[in-house]
Amino acid sequence: MADVILVLNAGSSSIKFRAFDIEGAQLALVSHGQVEGLFTAPHFVAYNAKGEKTGEKSWGEGAKLEHSDAIAHLGAFLRGHGAGHRLIGVGHRVVHGGAHFTKPVLTSPEVLDQLDKLTPLAPLHQPHNIKPIRIIAERNPGLPQVACFDTAFHATQAPIAQAFALPESITKNGVRRYGFHGLSYEYIASALPDIAPEAARGRTVVAHLGNGASLCAMRAGKSVASTMGFTAVDGLMMGTRCGNLDPGVLLYMLDELGMNARDIEDVLYRQSGLLGVSGISGDMRALLASSEERARFAVDLYVYRIGRELGSMGAALQGLDAIVFTAGIGEHSKEIRQRVCEAAAWWGIELDASANADASANGGARISTASSKVSAWVIPTNEELMIARHALALIDRQRKGAAE
Ligand code: ADP
Repeated sequence: MADVILVLNAGSSSIKFRAFDIEGAQLALVSHGQVEGLFTAPHFVAYNAKGEKTGEKSWGEGAKLEHSDAIAHLGAFLRGHGAGHRLIGVGHRVVHGGAHFTKPVLTSPEVLDQLDKLTPLAPLHQPHNIKPIRIIAERNPGLPQVACFDTAFHATQAPIAQAFALPESITKNGVRRYGFHGLSYEYIASALPDIAPEAARGRTVVAHLGNGASLCAMRAGKSVASTMGFTAVDGLMMGTRCGNLDPGVLLYMLDELGMNARDIEDVLYRQSGLLGVSGISGDMRALLASSEERARFAVDLYVYRIGRELGSMGAALQGLDAIVFTAGIGEHSKEIRQRVCEAAAWWGIELDASANADASANGGARISTASSKVSAWVIPTNEELMIARHALALIDRQRKGAAE
C-alpha cells in the first residue's frame, strides 16, 4: 500500500490541495485541485497527475460552505479515489512563522496557540491557514501535521536587512522585515544546483511574479534580502497590491481623504497594483491583450518597478550573477521576461530571444545568451512539493524517534 502526503493551502475563500505518493524517497503528484468560492458559489474540482478531471461539484450561487465542510468533502473524495493509498500526514502552508518558527514544525495544540499569536502580523491569511490544521486534528488526532512558513526561508537575512528605522517602542512588538514567498524561493534554491550550478553558488535574484510578486536576493542559495517586508504588500507592484509606498500617503488617506484603516487596507491589498493603475484588470494576460493606454501604462509601471527593485537586490548582493523568473507571470510571459531583461540590460543581461520564446513551452531553461555576463533563467516553482518534502522529512524523523 503506497503512503500519501496531502498538502493544503487554505485561504479565506478557497482551499487548494495536492496529494503526493511516496515512492522510495521520491514524491510523485497523484491528485490536485481546490474548493473555491467557499462563501459565494462553492465549487470543487480535482485532477489526476495527467491533468484529467477526476471530480467536480458545485454547491450553487449564494451557497455557503465552511472550511470544515470543504475539508470533509475533500477527505471523502480522497478516500473514495485513494484505493491502495494510506494518508500518513498533512503539510500546510502557513504564511507567518514570526521570529520563532524559522523551520517547518510538527503541529501540536501548543504550536497552534503560538501561531495564533502571530495573527496580528498577517490578519488576512494566518487564521485561514491555521483553521484546517485544527479541523483535521479534531477529526484525526493521531495524524501528523506539519506547518511550513512563507517567512522561514528569509531567517538567514542579517539583522540589518530585517530592520526598519523606527524607534524600539515600535520594533519591540515584532515590527521588522520578514519577507514572504519563502517556500517558492526554497524550492528554486533546491532546484538551482542541477539546473544552474553557478547561479546556485553565486549572487542570484529570484523574481517570483504571480498574483503576489516579490524578489529575493540569494547568495549561495540563502536569502540575503527581499522586497517584501513586514507584510506581503511591500516591494513590487502586484495584481491588486500596491507594493512599495511612501508611508506619508497612508497619513494623507487618513487625514485628508477621511478613510479608516479597513478602507486603506482594501485599497492597498485589493484595489491597487495592475488593477488599480489600469482600472481594467489585475490579470497580466488581460492587460497584455488590451490596446488601452491605461493597460499599457500599468504594465510599464510593473516592469519599471521590477527594474528599480532589482537594483536594490543587486546592491544587497554587491553584484549579480543570475536572475531567475518564476510563478505565473515569470513562467509564462515571455513579453514581461523580455522587458525586465531589457530594463536590466545595464547589469549585463543579454537575452536570447528564441530561448526566451521557447522557455514557456519547455517549462524551464536558460534564456540568456552564452556570452551574457549575467545569466537569466526560467524555473517553474513548486511550493506544494517543497511542503510535501518538509512534511515527509519531519514525519520520518518522528517515526525514527518513536522507534528508538
Ligand atoms: P498566484 O500568485 O495566485 O499563485 P500565479 O502564480 O498563478 O498566481 O500567477 C497569476 C498571474 O500569472 C496572473 O497575473 C496571470 O495573468 C499571469 N499569467 C499566467 N499565464 C500567463 C501568460 N501566459 N502570460 C502572461 N501572464 C500570465
